[in-house]
Amino acid sequence: MKQKGIVYLVGAGPGDAGLLTVRGADLLGRADVVVYDALVNKELLRLTKPGTELIYAGKRSSDHVIPQDKLNELLVSKAKEGKIVVRLKGGDPYVFGRGGEEAEQLASAGIQFEVVPGISSSIAALNYAGVPITHRDHGSSFTVVTGHEDPDKDEPSVNWEEVAKAPGTKVVLMGVTRTKEIADSLIKYGMDPRTPVAMVRWGTTGRQESIEGTLQTIAAVVDKTGFKPPALTVIGDVVKLREKLNWFEKRPLFGQRIVVTRTRDQASRLSQQLLERGAEVLEIPTIKIAPPTELQDIADVLLELNSYDWIIFTSPNGVTTFFEYFFKAFDDMRDIGGVRIAAVGPATAAKLQELHLRVDLMPDEYVASKIAKAFEKYESIDNLRILILRAEVANRELPKQLEEMGAIVDDIAVYKTIPETEDITGAAGRLDESGADWITFTSASTVENFHQRFKLPELVKKFPRVKLASIGPETSKAIVALGLKPTVEAKEHTIEGLVKAVESASKAS
Ligand code: SAH
Repeated sequence: MKQKGIVYLVGAGPGDAGLLTVRGADLLGRADVVVYDALVNKELLRLTKPGTELIYAGKRSSDHVIPQDKLNELLVSKAKEGKIVVRLKGGDPYVFGRGGEEAEQLASAGIQFEVVPGISSSIAALNYAGVPITHRDHGSSFTVVTGHEDPDKDEPSVNWEEVAKAPGTKVVLMGVTRTKEIADSLIKYGMDPRTPVAMVRWGTTGRQESIEGTLQTIAAVVDKTGFKPPALTVIGDVVKLREKLNWFEKRPLFGQRIVVTRTRDQASRLSQQLLERGAEVLEIPTIKIAPPTELQDIADVLLELNSYDWIIFTSPNGVTTFFEYFFKAFDDMRDIGGVRIAAVGPATAAKLQELHLRVDLMPDEYVASKIAKAFEKYESIDNLRILILRAEVANRELPKQLEEMGAIVDDIAVYKTIPETEDITGAAGRLDESGADWITFTSASTVENFHQRFKLPELVKKFPRVKLASIGPETSKAIVALGLKPTVEAKEHTIEGLVKAVESASKAS
C-alpha cells in the first residue's frame, strides 16, 4: 500500500540553531521534502538525511519566490505523493507568517498535518538583546503586533490607539520601514515620548545587531545607523534592563564573523566553541569524503580478513568508512577475527574505541619512520601480513618501510577526499559577498583545500579585514607558502588553543 503523506508545519525558532525543538529536529531527520523560509537558519537543513528534497520558499519582503497559493498547492501535492513534508517556518508557525492559512489549506484538502510550535522571535530576539518581555517592576503584560501595513493585504490593520493604551511591553514585528509612523502614532495616542525603545536585527544569531532610543528618537537612530529588516521593535520600561541583562551581546566573540574550514563531520567542536562565545560562524567545508575508485579491492579484503596479522588505520575517516563497508558485508563484529589493530594518532584510536575495539599499537604521528619504529618495538613483523586501510593517493612511504622490514603489505584505499562544491547553508556565498573577520585553519591541508575553493590571497585582498588563525607551525607554513601571514598562531596546538588565540586577538583589537 502506498504510504500516506503528511505535512508537518514546524517552527524553526528565531535563528539560533540550538533553539529548534527536539520534535522539530526529529522530524527534519525523517523528512522527504523540506520547504523553508528566508528567516530560517539554514544550518538546520543539515539535520536532514542525504537525498532530502530542499525547497526554498523565499519571502523576504518583496522577493516572494513561491507565491502563497502555489506554496499551498506544493505542500498538498507532495503529501499526496505519499511524502513526509516538513514546512519549516521562522519562529513559531502561528505567530504571523501565515502558518494558520497554510494549515487551513491542508485541512481543506484532507491532508494529514501536525503543527510543531517554535520559539518565536517576538519572545527570544529581545531576550538576546538583554530585554525580558515581562518583569514585575517594568511591565507585567505584553502585546505583539505587526507593523507591516500592506495596502494589498486584506489583514485587518492594527489599531494603534488600542496598542498605545494597552499596559505593559509592546513588541512590533515587521515594522522597520515604518518606525517613524508607528512611534508618532503611539505618542499621538498618549504614550510618553520618553518611553524606552530597542530594535533587534537578526536576533539570537551571531549577526545580531541592536539599537536603542526612545519613542521620540528611535526613527532618527534607524536613519543614522542604516538599520534594516529583518528586525523587531520592543517598546517599554523593560528596555531599561538591557544594560544589566545583555548576556549575549557581551560575549567575547560577539560581532565576529568566523569561518570554520574543516569537513562537516570534524567542524562541529570548533564551531560550537565559537558559537558559545557569541561569534557568527560560517562553516565552509572544502573537502568531503567519497568512496574510493576501486571498490573491488575492499570487497576482496573483506573476504580475507582473517589472513592478516595486523590492520593499520591512519585516520578517523579510514575507520568510519571501512566499518561502513564491513557492516554491509557482515552483521557481527566477530567477523573481524583475531587480527591486531594499530591506530595512528589518538583521534584514530578514539574512533576504534567507540566501536569497542582494543587498539594494540598506537604510533603518535603519521610519519612512516615513526610508525615502523613503533612496530619494531612491539614485535618483529618479518613475514607478517599487514593491511593498511587509508585514503586514496596517500604516499607510498609507509608500505615501503614496512616491506623493508619484511612484512607483506596490502595498501587499500577505503575513501578519497574530493572538493566540496555544495553550499546548502549559503555560508560560502556569504563569505564571497561580504568577507569575514577570521578564517580558522586546523591543518596544512585545510589551508590548501580552502585555497582551491576560494583563492585565499585574492580573498584577503578583496576583504582586508580578514584575519587568519592557524592551529600550529605546519599550518602556518602552508599559509606562508601562499604568500600570506597568519595573524595568530595557537600556542597550544589544539581546537581549544585556536579558540583562545582568536579570542585574545579579538579582545586586543
Ligand atoms: N513566525 C515568526 C514571525 C514571522 S513574521 C516568529 O514567530 O518569530 C517575520 C518578522 O519576524 C520579521 O519581519 C521580524 O520582524 C521578525 N523576526 C523574525 N526573526 C527575527 C529575528 N531573528 N530577529 C528579529 N526579528 C525577527
